Amino acid sequence: MYKTEEERLAALRASRNNSGKREWYCNVCNNGKNYNIRGRTNHLKSQKHQMNLIIQSEKKTIQEKSFVNNLIFF
Ligand SMILES: [Zn+2]
Repeated sequence: MYKTEEERLAALRASRNNSGKREWYCNVCNNGKNYNIRGRTNHLKSQKHQMNLIIQSEKKTIQEKSFVNNLIFF
């Protein structure tokens, strides 16, 4: 299933998005804001979103590294 609680919550939010009418939640920015579905493309292109995308992928890399380190350690 999901690796982390965060991932589980993100999936939960995503399923809520699907049932919502014209709102969309950005799991990358994860800022508690629902965006209008029409503004999604603009948001995805925004500098704020791009920054969060970079930050997230860096966090992921760090998590993966520490996971590997744990395997070696044990
Ligand atoms: Zn975003």
